[in-house]
Amino acid sequence: MSILDRMIVGMMPVVPRPIVGYFSKRYIAGQTVEQGLAEAHRLNEAGCMVTMDILGEDVHSREQALAARDGYLALLPAIHAAGVDGNVSLKPTMLGLSISTDFAYDNIRAIVARGAELGRFVRIDMEDATTTDRTLELYRRLRGEFDNTGVVLQACLRRTVNDAAELAKMRANVRLCKGIYIEPYAVSWRDREIIRASYLYALEVLLRGGAYVGIATHDELLVARSMHLVHRLGLAPQQYEFQMLLGVAERLRQVVVADGHRLRVYVPFGREWYAYSTRRLRENPKMAGTIARDILGLSAERRRR
Ligand SMILES: Cc1cc2nc3c(=O)[nH]c(=O)nc-3n(C[C@H](O)[C@H](O)[C@H](O)COP(=O)(O)OP(=O)(O)OC[C@H]3O[C@@H](n4cnc5c(N)ncnc54)[C@H](O)[C@@H]3O)c2cc1C
Repeated sequence: MSILDRMIVGMMPVVPRPIVGYFSKRYIAGQTVEQGLAEAHRLNEAGCMVTMDILGEDVHSREQALAARDGYLALLPAIHAAGVDGNVSLKPTMLGLSISTDFAYDNIRAIVARGAELGRFVRIDMEDATTTDRTLELYRRLRGEFDNTGVVLQACLRRTVNDAAELAKMRANVRLCKGIYIEPYAVSWRDREIIRASYLYALEVLLRGGAYVGIATHDELLVARSMHLVHRLGLAPQQYEFQMLLGVAERLRQVVVADGHRLRVYVPFGREWYAYSTRRLRENPKMAGTIARDILGLSAERRRR
């Protein structure tokens, strides 16, 4: 982390909540379902699909996990009724994974079953490496029963090359990202170029194996290389999609859409926005520095505008 990142991150905990809220607006679609749906409509009009995420994670009480389940059970029909071109993403620890795998399974299964009734897809996000095995197990169990669900692989993890090969055999629907969590060296690559190489290798394994991949990155080099790969493999636009976070790399997003690729924007919303922002900060101070510099207008993306 640079000295500037350290200074910015050091300052952030003392920034008053309303100011954090003001600057998070670009990345979070609001606190209510209505605000989330309004953002989803704007993105649909701009040619992007969406995946809607109710903010929250690391829940340790059954009541909170059941409330999260009910939030998604209400969100799916709301998306459907609003005619939004979109699906949902959820975090296993918000649905009770830290309490018990079976409890989380029951909650996520209820959401996936509701999604199946409505013809809506449910993405199971990937959290830190202590949850990878259990999350993949949840996914495999659900996949035995449902087609409308998918999971996430993180290129930073050393295990991902093997997981990609296994999921390709299942012709799974996989979001591939770099991974946001700071992991122990024993399980995770650290070097940016190695993570990029690992990303592209896993992407090729997945696509060649017949998996549907959500290519989730704002890294321009990876976007370009991924475009080359889908071209080389002769894939139709329906066989993959790009994915980006709300408020990030909007110029690149427009370029991808204009080039005829499908692109989905991750739209987080909900009352837990503050906890989400501060947790991200603790987990990945470098990312917080990136975001803060962007807010302050110091990022390369802003300078190019
Ligand atoms: C749709 C989507 C879903 C994701 N789901 C998961 C998940 O389930 N599990 C998981 O571990 N990770 C997830 N991630 C996060 C991902 O793992 C990376 O941490 C994140 O995307 C940054 O990596 P990058 O590939 O964009 O490359 P980077 O090199 O990190 O970023 C490229 C550029 O994008 C910009 N940028 C990237 N992220 C942000 C940001 N948050 N705010 C502002 N600017 C930013 C910066 O300008 C940066 O220079 C997801 C990412 C996306 C796009």
